[in-house]
Amino acid sequence: MKNTDNEIITSLKKLLSGQNGTIVLVTHENPDGDAIGSAIGLAEVLNNSGRDVKIIVPNDYPFFLKWFRSDLEILIYDHNKRKAKRILADASLLICLDFNDPKRVANMEKKLTQFSMPKVIIDHHPYPVDFADYLISETNYSSTAELVYKIIKEMDFSKYINPAAAEALYTGIMTDTGSFSHNISRPEVFKAVSELMAWDVDTDKIQSAVYHNFSNSRMKLLGYCLNKKMEVLPEYRSAVIYISKKELEEYDFKPGDTEGYVNYPLSIKNIVFSALLIEKKNCIKASFRSKGNFPANLFAQEHFNGGGHVNAAGGESTLSLSETVEMFKQLLKDYEHLLKETII
Ligand code: 5GP
Ligand code: MN
Repeated sequence: MKNTDNEIITSLKKLLSGQNGTIVLVTHENPDGDAIGSAIGLAEVLNNSGRDVKIIVPNDYPFFLKWFRSDLEILIYDHNKRKAKRILADASLLICLDFNDPKRVANMEKKLTQFSMPKVIIDHHPYPVDFADYLISETNYSSTAELVYKIIKEMDFSKYINPAAAEALYTGIMTDTGSFSHNISRPEVFKAVSELMAWDVDTDKIQSAVYHNFSNSRMKLLGYCLNKKMEVLPEYRSAVIYISKKELEEYDFKPGDTEGYVNYPLSIKNIVFSALLIEKKNCIKASFRSKGNFPANLFAQEHFNGGGHVNAAGGESTLSLSETVEMFKQLLKDYEHLLKETII
């Protein structure tokens, strides 16, 4: 039985409408458009259904996701631990959105695993970790937002959707599909999008708010990275971009500025695997993108303590930036065969 079939929907409906108390929605760290969109969308719907609902995210999220018309607060755990802990201690239900491994909430991991009331996962990443009471995992969905929308409909909660919810869910689908360019092979994606649009969703405004809202220095940093910091390795059909903390500072880096950089090398003819390595305070953050069936997630899992989707994954390294770049290049040798065989 597929896990979004009747049984789990009935259980979820009971959990959502049956009891009192606060429902807490949690996303992964460094929340992206899908995480924030899913959380706002579901929170608006639950709120309209008369439930008390709170959104908690592990750390701050980029400015290009701070324009939603929803009035609901997004509490940042790192900024207000005391309040977040209090809310979690009193909550009656926890819903984890857009992740399936407690490691993905960083500092909040213990709070999650020790949460004693029911826990639900709603997610579309492969290889879920068994840490919740209810797992709704659909790896062929474009986004968690699309899955949330489907669950809302299945639960007969569509009557609680408002423009703020629809706008947020639309944004989740839009961002996780790169503006409807990948993960869109199921016609249901467009059906969901067209239904959501009927709630007064301003698609032009959302496109501009997310993608046409960058600073001048972010554009210059992108130019610098493509010109000076990208190495193309045609023999491995791969490319890597790497940026040091100092370089980020020189370009007045703001969180979110490097979003999307990792996709650029994939538009070079014949490149099927791209890595972006960024020096952070305590580690090197790695982002991977691939084409075809080259498993970026297994690469991230095996060598960068990470994971993700087949074509979009991430992880981290505790080596220095230059050592990480070198390690990445060395690793490609082990994948040469697979990379050469990748059909695009
Ligand atoms: P991004 O490169 O945009 O940060 O992440 C791409 C995908 O990889 C997302 O689906 C995200 O959930 C996943 N991902 C990113 N970083 C990590 C990580 O450190 N661990 C795991 N398990 N997945 C990650
Ligand atoms: Mn997602």
